[in-house]
Amino acid sequence: MSKPAANENSILIDRFGRRVDYLRISITDRCDFRCIYCMAENMTFLPRAQILTLEEIFTLASAFTGLGVSKIRVTGGEPLVRKGAVSLLRKLGGLPGLRNLVLTTNGSQLESTANALREAGVRRLNISLDTLQEDKFRQLTRVGDLQQVLRGIEAARRAGFERLKINAVILKNRNHQEVGDLLRFAVDRGLDISFIEEMPLGLVSAHDRAEAYYSSDAIKQDLEQQFTLLASPEQTGGPSRYYRVVGSDTRVGFISPHSNNFCATCNRVRLTVEGRLLLCLGNEHSVDLKRILRANPGDVQILRQAIVAAMRIKPERHEFDLREQPVILRHMNVTGG
Ligand code: SAM
Ligand code: SF4
Repeated sequence: MSKPAANENSILIDRFGRRVDYLRISITDRCDFRCIYCMAENMTFLPRAQILTLEEIFTLASAFTGLGVSKIRVTGGEPLVRKGAVSLLRKLGGLPGLRNLVLTTNGSQLESTANALREAGVRRLNISLDTLQEDKFRQLTRVGDLQQVLRGIEAARRAGFERLKINAVILKNRNHQEVGDLLRFAVDRGLDISFIEEMPLGLVSAHDRAEAYYSSDAIKQDLEQQFTLLASPEQTGGPSRYYRVVGSDTRVGFISPHSNNFCATCNRVRLTVEGRLLLCLGNEHSVDLKRILRANPGDVQILRQAIVAAMRIKPERHEFDLREQPVILRHMNVTGG
C-alpha cells in the first residue's frame, strides 16, 4: 500500500509508508586498515574537493534532524582517522532533536579518543573485531594490530558508554571457527556482539565471496554448542535478529544482509562521504546533496525539500546475489557500513 511522501515541514515518510528517522554518515573513505572484505589492497581514495567538509556534514545533519531524524551513526572508512572527527561529533551531539548519537569504529584510535567521544555525547560504540588471533587479524585487516584494538576496547569500557558492541564479519575457513571464542570474549566483558554475513559491495581481490559465505544460521548452530540463546523481541528496523545469552548481559545479533525480510521496516538512509544521499544500501538510488548544498549556500530550505523529495525514490527492497559480480560497485568505506 502506497502512502504519499511527507510535505516539506514534516517528518520523512517514503512511498511505502516507512518513517525514516535514522541517518548513517560516512565522514571519510580513508582507513588505517585494509580489511579483505571491505577494500582492495591498493585503494585510491577520493580527492579532498570531492568529499564533504566537516561543516557541510554538520549542515546536512542538522537538515535531517530538522526533519525528525533522531538517530545518527557516524562511520566511514575509519571515522576516527579524519582530523576534527571528535569536534564534529561534539557538534552533532548538541543537535536539537537528536536522541541517539553512535559511532562505528575499527578501534585503532580508541585508546586515545574514548573519553573525548563519551564527553562529546556519543552514547554507544560498535567496534569491529573479527578474530582474537594476531596472525589472522593481520591477514584479515592486512595491516592492523590486534593488541592496539584490544587496548582500545578496554579504554572504551572504562569511558562508560551505555553499550559497546563488537561487530564481526564471518568468512568461511577464515574465521568461522572462532565464533564461540568471540562470543566468550563479549560475554566475559559484558559487551554485545553482532555476527555479520559478508555483503557484495565493491570488487575485492583476496577471496571468492560465494565460497566465503557462512550463513547466520550456521553461526547460530555453532554457538548453540556452547551457549543457550533466547530469542529477543528487539527490533532495530535493520537486518539484525537478536538473542540473549542466558546467564549473561550479552545480546547476540545476526546480521543477514542477503535476506530482505527486514526491508519492510527499513527506517534508515545513508549519506556518503561525497555527499550523496543513498536511499538503500543494496541499490544505486541516490540524490546528490553536495551539489545542492554547494549551489545554494546557507539555504536550508532547499536542502530540506531535496531530502523530502528523495523519499519518493527509496526502493522497496534490495537485491544482492553472491553468484554475480557485484551490481553495487561502491566499496563499503565510501558508503559507510
Ligand atoms: N572502519 C569502521 C569499522 O571497521 O568498524 C567503520 C566502517 S566499516 C565499513 C563498518 C562495518 O562494515 C564494519 O563492522 C565492517 O566489518 C563492515 N563491513 C565492511 N565491509 C563489509 C562487507 N563487504 N560485508 C559486510 N560487512 C562489511
Ligand atoms: Fe577500514 Fe572498517 Fe573497511 Fe576495515 S571494515 S577496511 S576498518 S573501513
